[in-house]
Amino acid sequence: MFDNFMRSFGASQPSSCILVVEDEISIREAITLALREEGYQVITAEDGRQALNLITNALPREDGSAAIDLILLDLMLPYVNGLDVCRILRQQGNLTPILILSARGTEMDIVVGLEIGADDYLAKPFGLRELVARCRVLLRRSSRTQSTSSEQATLQFQDITLYLQEYKVTVRDQLVNLSPKEYTLLELFMQNPRRVFSRDQLLERVWGMQSMSDPKTVDVHIRWLREKLEVDPSSPRYIITVRGFGYRLG
Ligand code: CA
Repeated sequence: MFDNFMRSFGASQPSSCILVVEDEISIREAITLALREEGYQVITAEDGRQALNLITNALPREDGSAAIDLILLDLMLPYVNGLDVCRILRQQGNLTPILILSARGTEMDIVVGLEIGADDYLAKPFGLRELVARCRVLLRRSSRTQSTSSEQATLQFQDITLYLQEYKVTVRDQLVNLSPKEYTLLELFMQNPRRVFSRDQLLERVWGMQSMSDPKTVDVHIRWLREKLEVDPSSPRYIITVRGFGYRLG
């Protein structure tokens, strides 16, 4: 099956390939049909184990890019559940965007899913049109990240540009002076747009010593970053507060 769809790419610009992991056949088929109508290549897996096998054995495209551009992942799956699939992929360093689909629409599931590295979340029941729109956003975002990071070693988020080799940041084409901690914090956010980080996670990733610093340190640095980046720091557009949990970019 995989060989067939790899051959079907031909010489022209390949369309994005989406892996749909869903054990409920009616949902799997409806999603597959909707995505194919939009011109996407779709492959499917019925459980978590099959999904991991497919992803691990997928050969990269001729230009070296990954064969699977996006994973739609149900949470309640036979053998290996969706959260574990997500966790395993991220532990392996696989950064393919993941959109979690699940009937378990509680806030805690969303937080856990995003925390272990999913990029977005859609609670069942969802409209196929919304699903297609979310897929388009995730695919656009990941292709932009790949091209900028390989060509000029920059990260781009809206009108913020971060120059990785020069430790330089511009906002609306103006150079911004950031302290090393502010820079590291912003870099982490820009590598993971829309991902929610708790204060403890930020402390660990940016300060490296979770136990020695007060989580309020994070709040203070976020305030400083906002003052340097935002047009109106009192109603931020870039670094958003996720009430009761932490912060995310965008
Ligand atoms: Ca299921």
